[in-house]
Amino acid sequence: MNEFNRVIIDTEALAHNYRYLCRRAPSAEMMAMVKSDGYGHSMIESARVFQDNGCRSFGVAELSEGVELRESGIKEEIIVFMGFDHDDRMYLLEHNLIPVVFCKDDLECIAELQAESQTEHPVYLKFDCGMSRLGFKPQEAAELFDFCRKLKLSVRGIISHFPSSDDHQTDSSERVYKQFERISGAKGFNSTMRASLCNSGGILYHGKTHGGMVRAGISLYGYYPDGAAGRREDEVDGLKPAMTFSSRILQINRVDAGTGVSYSHTYITDRETVLAVLPVGYSDGYFRQMSNQAEVLINGCRAPIRGRICMNMCMADITDMEDVHAGDEVILMGTQGTECIDADQIGGWCDTISYELLCAIGNNNKREFI
Ligand SMILES: *Cc1c(COP(=O)(O)O)cnc(C)c1O
Repeated sequence: MNEFNRVIIDTEALAHNYRYLCRRAPSAEMMAMVKSDGYGHSMIESARVFQDNGCRSFGVAELSEGVELRESGIKEEIIVFMGFDHDDRMYLLEHNLIPVVFCKDDLECIAELQAESQTEHPVYLKFDCGMSRLGFKPQEAAELFDFCRKLKLSVRGIISHFPSSDDHQTDSSERVYKQFERISGAKGFNSTMRASLCNSGGILYHGKTHGGMVRAGISLYGYYPDGAAGRREDEVDGLKPAMTFSSRILQINRVDAGTGVSYSHTYITDRETVLAVLPVGYSDGYFRQMSNQAEVLINGCRAPIRGRICMNMCMADITDMEDVHAGDEVILMGTQGTECIDADQIGGWCDTISYELLCAIGNNNKREFI
């Protein structure tokens, strides 16, 4: 079926971003974070591209994602970040998924799994060094290493997470790094364990904290964690956005001056106006919050969205454009001619970040891969 709305994923851009990030973190192993269906870009397709370019480690949030990724044919290490239900522990074993563990109960559960199966099943230990989210405390490290030793658990690595690595100004990341170093300095740590602290912000802006393994997420998909500022300050051949969101004009209507547009008439035309009806709305991840804010590209020019964005439709003002017809292509996110709208700009229209938009748009529309 020909869909009106298309999310097009540029696999060349994904490959370029992977290689670029490897160059930025030359001494570290690169883990590709493919959670939330690859930030909307398809977990499986993205992971295949990264694997083909040498990636040997993949991070997912949930156990079910890990199973799906393994069943898709990914042979490399798969790490599950958000824990697991103890009743589901056999999935870890069957699919060789490595858990990130943040509580002792889970460590004991994995030890039982090892005993039941007579095989070694390593873990990563998660520490909280300032995010106030998941993890053990750095000061517990020595005791934990000892606890794992007694359970005969192999610790493959230690993991923590930066809360503000996208911010170059604060000393937050410095403080987190100091906490993280307490773990690798604790009794029981050994050099076969990988130390992994960096997300995209850490990779790009805090080189000395790279350690043995870094975890790239948003940057793999072509965006900077600090948005447009990051792109401006990087080299031209830096990260390339991989996702394009396009649609087609459904109908064109001419209305008089003084006409209300869409629900609640939050826009009243100030002149005779030509409106293009687009089959895109908030159920496609095109947030209602950007009603009367967003712009789209038609014929290589910017057209403003007028009135409320509906569930499945919205209206663009094409009064100043010539030679536009029903069926013409509309770019909601991406490049047309010399104009470009990216997820950072759209995020500015609805008070969010590229991450949320990519997930919302990618996971609510049919995707194609080029
Ligand atoms: C999502 C995630 C990352 C990647 O973060 P980005 O800012 O997208 O690079 C890294 N580590 C953990 C634990 C994550 O959950």
